[in-house]
Amino acid sequence: MGYNILYIEDNPDNMMLVKRALEARGYKLLQAMRGEEGVEVAEAEEVDLILLDINLPDIDGYEVARRIRGSQKKHSLSYLPIIAVTANALKGDAEKALSAGCDVYMSKPINIRELWARVEAFVPSPQNK
Ligand code: MN
Repeated sequence: MGYNILYIEDNPDNMMLVKRALEARGYKLLQAMRGEEGVEVAEAEEVDLILLDINLPDIDGYEVARRIRGSQKKHSLSYLPIIAVTANALKGDAEKALSAGCDVYMSKPINIRELWARVEAFVPSPQNK
């Protein structure tokens, strides 16, 4: 069976990198390039894990995480795995991401092996059997 991963990210280069990396491992990637769109996709689609950029053009990633955790449309979002992808780990972004409800964080630039490991900690790769 396949897993659907939602990546909320406004940078097309990061989006393409992650799409290729995750599809290579058998995951399906859903994409949102704005925060509010990301919340809507999380509520509307079957999603197994969320990768969340913090710097987004509308609402920031912290607010996205809070809205997802507090969703009144889909209560399972209160425990859906969320991995924050932070650009400023040294400036307290990571702690703020965890406070907002993210489970773990990883720093940019994105390291593909770290990405695979972080994702597989929550949803096993279909190609890792
Ligand atoms: Mn961004």
